[in-house]
Amino acid sequence: MANEQGSAVEVRVERGCISSGICVEIAPESFELVGVRARPRLPLADSPEARSALQEAVEACPVEAILVLPAAPDAP
Ligand code: SF4
Repeated sequence: MANEQGSAVEVRVERGCISSGICVEIAPESFELVGVRARPRLPLADSPEARSALQEAVEACPVEAILVLPAAPDAP
């Protein structure tokens, strides 16, 4: 997935996830609940709608467990 500036990003869910399911409800293209934690669906959907829903999920997570980071560059 790319951010609004076109840079590739990586999405992570941290251990603090409390399985509220809010991110799955808001952005089902990007998250699924597996066991006691949400996890990003891979490969991440990369559409304007998916990016917008992802941002909404980040803001809605009650424990701020969703991280959107610059993607690691590919190995040479
Ligand atoms: S919204 Fe946050 S706490 Fe809730 S399932 Fe998603 S990552 Fe976990």
